[in-house]
Amino acid sequence: MELSNINNVQNLLKKSGLSLKKSLGQNFLIDGTVCPAMANAACDADTGVLEIGPGIGVLTRELSKKSKKVVAIEIDERLKQILSETLNECNNVKVIYGDCMKLDLNKIIKDNFGDCRKIAVCANLPYYITSPIIMMLLESRLPIDSITVMVQKEAAERLCADVGTREAGVVTVAVSYYAQKEILFGVDRSSFLPAPNVDSSVIQLKILKNPPVSVKDEEWFFKVAKACFAQRRKTLVNTVSNSLGISKDYIKAALSEMNLSETIRGEQLTLKELANLSDILLKKQNV
Ligand code: SAM
Repeated sequence: MELSNINNVQNLLKKSGLSLKKSLGQNFLIDGTVCPAMANAACDADTGVLEIGPGIGVLTRELSKKSKKVVAIEIDERLKQILSETLNECNNVKVIYGDCMKLDLNKIIKDNFGDCRKIAVCANLPYYITSPIIMMLLESRLPIDSITVMVQKEAAERLCADVGTREAGVVTVAVSYYAQKEILFGVDRSSFLPAPNVDSSVIQLKILKNPPVSVKDEEWFFKVAKACFAQRRKTLVNTVSNSLGISKDYIKAALSEMNLSETIRGEQLTLKELANLSDILLKKQNV
């Protein structure tokens, strides 16, 4: 059965009496071109793929064809019956029911992908937790090579922006620190059932072996980055002082050491400047 065919999707849902939950970001793909393109970009025959949110299994099937094996994590146990039917011929797929934010993904990867040369995450992400999922995947330093995911178009632009531009947020800092980023292609809202009121994009993050900037204390670097973006309309001096409880004079001195204006806003700093700032503030913290 073709799972990207709208009539088939509707029939499957009707047969199992399942109504889609907006709160779980359940917009299912009904465009037959998108999943093969995502699977092609994400994996090859040596790759173990972790999928988040298989839904009724439309992307899972394509990943199963292209990769060595797939572990798909689905929060909604109501999809069990449908998935056991739609994936019954996919012998290299395992579905784990649970919340991807709460499961031990490191253990899941170790237990399942020991014989895979590459490990990739691929998903049409539930939009309500796009950034938390991406932050979690990056910050937990999972042994993955790449992340290929569909996200809202605006989120894609933010994730793949350059740090130091208006589009950037703290998630942009994390992406730029851990990965090489690329927007692969756009997907129209009409490609989903139900159609959301935004368009989407597929992005790919290739995880870097070494970050492009070095920092003395990574945890502190991210605390400083979060503080810089905490109150975007305020100057860096005010938002960092409010968030981290550092005296304004310390922060002004740090900016002066970096030849930056006292009135600069956090979002205007490049990745390298954020790294410098965090190292200088760390020194001052430790005095
Ligand atoms: N992969 C399918 C497709 O492309 O049509 C479904 C994608 S749909 C946008 C997002 C899926 O993620 C849904 O199946 C939803 O139930 C699941 N989901 C939502 N929150 C989740 C979470 N915290 N952990 C795992 N799966 C989740």
